[in-house]
Amino acid sequence: MRLGMNEDIKEILYSKSQIKEVSKQIGKKLTADYLDKKPLVICVLKGAVLFMADIIREIDTYAEIDFMDVSSYGDGTVSSGEVKILKDLDVPVEGREILIIEDIIDTGKTLQCLVDLLKHRKAKTVKICTLLDKPERRVEGVVPDYVGFQVPNEFVVGYGLDYQGMYRNLPYVGILKPEIYENN
Ligand code: 5GP
Ligand code: MG
Ligand code: MG
Repeated sequence: MRLGMNEDIKEILYSKSQIKEVSKQIGKKLTADYLDKKPLVICVLKGAVLFMADIIREIDTYAEIDFMDVSSYGDGTVSSGEVKILKDLDVPVEGREILIIEDIIDTGKTLQCLVDLLKHRKAKTVKICTLLDKPERRVEGVVPDYVGFQVPNEFVVGYGLDYQGMYRNLPYVGILKPEIYENN
């Protein structure tokens, strides 16, 4: 028997093909909304890398990309409430139309902090595109502009999302078996 990452998953929520399809739909909206606006598309590392790669190939207009690494979670599954900038942008944001690409919005603390920072740096507009939304857990008033899928209040991994640095390379989004993190 082959034991591996897949055996740690309780339930698959969204398959690779469902994610590709939703990226196409969101890409069409983004193409229309950002036509001639030359957006700066910001990928929030590392979780949003896979979704970012899908989304930018579906945006059929001029767009620049950059990366930012912020952290609120450390290695666990519970928010620390602290947001640290681990890697800042290379490109100035003043006057730019910004599209943030995220993997998941949970409490909203990370995104709230990021949006505030970009507005403080005089971005012209800041919009949010997230693969997953966990609205039940929201404590900040963050409302994403483009959402792939909603997820229940469970810890999910895959398609960029990790637990202790692992599972990002699963080609789908699934619920991690609680015994995997309860034993740690
Ligand atoms: P927030 O600040 O919205 O509470 O948390 C945002 C970040 O926490 C996400 O970008 C992600 O890195 C992490 N996170 C929140 N919920 C989950 C989850 O269910 N699974 C994983 N792997 N990460 C999560
Ligand atoms: Mg993230
Ligand atoms: Mg993480």
